[in-house]
Amino acid sequence: MKNIYEHSKPFSPLTAIKSPQFESRQLRVYVKRDDLLHPYISGNKWRKLKHNLLEASRLGATKLVTFGGAYSNHLAAVAAAGFESGISALGVVRGERTEPLNPTLKYAEECGMELMYVSRTNFRKKSNTSILEDLKINLEGCYVLPEGGTNCLALPGCAEIVEEIETQLVSMPDYICTACGTGGTLAGIVSGLKGQSTAIGISVLKGDFLKNDVANLLASCGEPARDNWQILTDYHFGGYAKFKPELIDFINDFQKTHGIPLDPIYTGKLFFAAFDLAEKGFFKKNSTVVLVHTGGLQGIAGFNERFGALIER
Ligand SMILES: *Cc1c(COP(=O)(O)O)cnc(C)c1O
Repeated sequence: MKNIYEHSKPFSPLTAIKSPQFESRQLRVYVKRDDLLHPYISGNKWRKLKHNLLEASRLGATKLVTFGGAYSNHLAAVAAAGFESGISALGVVRGERTEPLNPTLKYAEECGMELMYVSRTNFRKKSNTSILEDLKINLEGCYVLPEGGTNCLALPGCAEIVEEIETQLVSMPDYICTACGTGGTLAGIVSGLKGQSTAIGISVLKGDFLKNDVANLLASCGEPARDNWQILTDYHFGGYAKFKPELIDFINDFQKTHGIPLDPIYTGKLFFAAFDLAEKGFFKKNSTVVLVHTGGLQGIAGFNERFGALIER
């Protein structure tokens, strides 16, 4: 198994963005451009997979097995990682197979990933182990990654985001903000901060459960309990993959003004939140805020296919 991290760019760029909303509160705002790490092993998935792939290699794994929805950035990332590492990959997809395949699944198959499908009910109700049992998968040589790639080995890769930012700014910022799906990326950032600064997670899902999930994840991975992080739950726009016209307008305007593309599922909601929070005086005056661009741009093609070409490219 080839180590795909060996010759990768060491750091993703850290870019300042200027805006009257930020300047009037004397906020210095930067974007950590993890979307530029790799086109398909995107952003935080690249970070979360790093130590998992090193472990898979150490174990002599011959196949990556994982789970995800039909538009999942994680599935696309694992497919690409399998292809580039030279090992096979199996993706267990939530829902029925529909032809033609959407751009995400088509890409996954083109990478050589085998796709198997599980009904939405079973996908939600059953454990990964029992799903794999039902599908009669022989797990010999398999390295199994959970949905979204969140496990304890995902944390050190995401903690590296913090180390890079500190080096690039020559100091720690006051806030590091990220979009949250499972909360694994936020947990990794919290671990990297070691009690300094504040980590802010913007939940892209409706509900209040992520705070517990992240606390449990941190504890189960042996991290000390900390209180320098929080999850904001007012920016989901109706729930996962739900949106409103103002979110779409924001994404298109942001791309025009700053030249940085955002996806409507994760980073669009994070950046929208950052502007809104700045206007409401959430961030301390004269502070430094880093927004982590966790990538996910592969999802735009599928989003536009479903909802009409809403996101301008
Ligand atoms: C998967 C994903 C997230 C969510 O990451 P978690 O670690 O599950 O919270 C955020 N942004 C993008 C672009 C993603 O693809």
